[in-house]
Amino acid sequence: MNHKTVYLETMGCQMNVLDSELVLEQLRTRGYAPTGEMHEADLVLINTCSVRAHAEDKAFSRLGSLKKSIRNKPDRVVGVIGCMAERDPDGIFQKMKHVDLVCGPAELYKLPAMIEEVRQGHRHLVALTVNKSRRNSPLERSTEYDSVEAFDLSRDPGSDAGVVQSYLRVQRGCDKFCTFCVVPFTRGPERSRPPGQIVGEARMLADHGCKEITLLGQTVNSYVNQNNGRAVHFADLLARVHEVEGIERIRFVTSYPGDFTSDIFQAMRDLPKVCEYLHLPVQSGSNAVLKRMRRQYTVERFCELVAEARETVPDITLATDFIVGFCGETEQEFEESCELTRRCDFKNIFCFKYSERLETVAGKRFPDDVPIEVKRRRNNTLLKIQEEISLRNNQALAGRIVEVLVESYSKAALKAQEAEQSRGSELSWRRSDQLVGRTRGDQIVVFPGRPEDIGRLAKVRLTEATALTLQGCLARGSRQQARGKRQ
Ligand code: SF4
Repeated sequence: MNHKTVYLETMGCQMNVLDSELVLEQLRTRGYAPTGEMHEADLVLINTCSVRAHAEDKAFSRLGSLKKSIRNKPDRVVGVIGCMAERDPDGIFQKMKHVDLVCGPAELYKLPAMIEEVRQGHRHLVALTVNKSRRNSPLERSTEYDSVEAFDLSRDPGSDAGVVQSYLRVQRGCDKFCTFCVVPFTRGPERSRPPGQIVGEARMLADHGCKEITLLGQTVNSYVNQNNGRAVHFADLLARVHEVEGIERIRFVTSYPGDFTSDIFQAMRDLPKVCEYLHLPVQSGSNAVLKRMRRQYTVERFCELVAEARETVPDITLATDFIVGFCGETEQEFEESCELTRRCDFKNIFCFKYSERLETVAGKRFPDDVPIEVKRRRNNTLLKIQEEISLRNNQALAGRIVEVLVESYSKAALKAQEAEQSRGSELSWRRSDQLVGRTRGDQIVVFPGRPEDIGRLAKVRLTEATALTLQGCLARGSRQQARGKRQ
């Protein structure tokens, strides 16, 4: 058995977080122990993101910093995995001679064998699926697809027993080809996993103590799987996962507005474990921009969905994404995004400055003609509008009692604990220690609590608020109370 260490750094989205978790599990069974010390590790893996140029620059910077310790660790294996590996393998090897392997996200089941090959003296190994011929991907062939499935099926959360929140993949890839997006080129065609496998994985996670599951897909609401001649859609899948004993909350990301159907809202209303939170990326408040982005819906349709969500699912909270400074975006078109933000009363927004990706339609056909300082200004303007909305909405919650799944100590409490430890003091609980958790509507709540509250559902009375965080205190009798639908 190997006794080596692995350092794995994850950049980007929740899909990458889950992929990294599965990679680590595979490596653990082969004798690798995770370490936080990159320069000391026998195996270094960077799980990369290609959505923006900035994310790739960051990955190159981490890889570059490894050169310093190359002499101390001549046998170290260095691998680049994830979307950047799929997108630009030649560029990686050209710029970073000390990288031994690159492996795309759909090929991760091959990674342990690739690492062994490198150890036997082979270098510059490549495992890619989708980049060369996106439409005729090998994923279309069932044997290959079974191998990809085996990666998810190999999941063994044994070492993470007691983890209360987990991601669960229900779908791979994307067929939408929004003109700005690199994902269809790096993650391949859209494929929905069989519902039986998803439910089986949910059961296994529940058996290991998981209470909250987030179902993951690039366009998760488009989920459809042919099961014994019958199509299982996303609302059906929610109902099946809802049956799993031990799971108390179900979330899902990311939804695509063009495919959203009423039965999903009805499932959110009728299934008590499904949280009243929806992340529905709109990307722009201008129909002309949506058309250039090839988003297959209009602003009017998006607003209808928002209205239906609020009407069907009481107390639902909504979040969205915007891209500002997309090719040709005028001041008027940007103002339409501001207007939509004011109108929709989102809980929060994720706002990104457009970053050109050359293999996309926009990268090939449209000039990236909005200057960076204009993108920056628009980004700040939109965030400022949302900040005022979030603050007003959060302050209006004062006095309410909400259900919180307690995740950990707050950052401030962890920092104070670290400082105490570095002074050599024993770690002990103090009445003032702050814990942090999330409501069913995905609001962050900070409150003083005990270590044994971590991992539990608690009732918290809200007292104060900022735009980002709610503060409160445990409601009387909270530790005895069980889960309820809307609190
Ligand atoms: S729906 Fe559009 S933005 Fe989302 S992953 Fe697919 S191509 Fe990218």
